[in-house]
Amino acid sequence: MKPLSELNFDLHNHTSASDGLLSADELVHLACRNGCDALSITDHDTVANIAAAQKSAAAVGLRFISGVEISVSWMAAGDIDRPLTTIHIVGLNIDVNNKILLAGLQSVRSGRIRRGQEIAKQLVDAGQPDIFDDAYAFAENKEMLGRTHFARALVARGIVPDIGAAFKRFLTQGNPGYIPHRWASLADAVSWIRAAGGVAVIAHPARYKLSSTEFDALFDEFKVLGGQGVEVVTGSHAPNEYAAAGARCKAFGLLASRGADFHGQLETPVEPGKMALLSEVDRDLVPVWQLFR
Ligand code: AMP
Ligand code: MN
Ligand code: MN
Ligand code: MN
Repeated sequence: MKPLSELNFDLHNHTSASDGLLSADELVHLACRNGCDALSITDHDTVANIAAAQKSAAAVGLRFISGVEISVSWMAAGDIDRPLTTIHIVGLNIDVNNKILLAGLQSVRSGRIRRGQEIAKQLVDAGQPDIFDDAYAFAENKEMLGRTHFARALVARGIVPDIGAAFKRFLTQGNPGYIPHRWASLADAVSWIRAAGGVAVIAHPARYKLSSTEFDALFDEFKVLGGQGVEVVTGSHAPNEYAAAGARCKAFGLLASRGADFHGQLETPVEPGKMALLSEVDRDLVPVWQLFR
């Protein structure tokens, strides 16, 4: 039998229930074609597509693990001068009917329309009339309007060539269309995931602009709260970032996760199941899926 770290588990993907472009069924078929041994769907702040994905996965014989990606606002304890950092926490193998989790996710989603209106106001001032309606039309799940939908609207208008450029010129700190937002606390996100019987995983650590002291504080706090894993191989990291993420994972005694963070073919650098295996980064990494047997 293959070591677990050689298995092609892809545990971070989005569907149109949040800011992905594919339906649950399309994503399941893509993961299947790409030879995934297991797939998780981890939409932002919603589990609306998990039941549909479970059904599709069962129909094609693909192992499926329920998931979610929770938006968190985090501040290192005592670091009151610094603005909050947005951190994403993935919850895997969750009971999607758990009431504590569902109420928590609902509370995280609740500010998104108001935030979207404020984003739109700034973009209108920057010369993009009626942009709210365009972005809203791109959001299939109306509760889940996010910056990606605004980015797609800007691309559709020909203002920017692609999503990446949209996030360079707009929607990010210091640019038009950036509204600081208060998401869940780290403690709440981890506790909702645990209440639902799931495993909490820090998503794409290399994406956060934190000093090494702040990283240590985040990982320490996460572990104390009961967090268990961190993504090492993700489509949101460049391949040259895998080794450092793997070293930090081991240093903190966390389990390693892997996922494309797939949103769509023209938007994400890699398709589900198409990244390096954990064993190719470091044979000593312990995959988070060892908990799922
Ligand atoms: P929101 O939760 O509405 O703030 O949107 C966050 C989402 O925007 C992330 O999950 C990514 O899908 C997308 N995003 C953020 N920054 C970038 C970027 N630089 N390039 C492409 N997509 C991005
Ligand atoms: Mn996203
Ligand atoms: Mn994320
Ligand atoms: Mn994601």
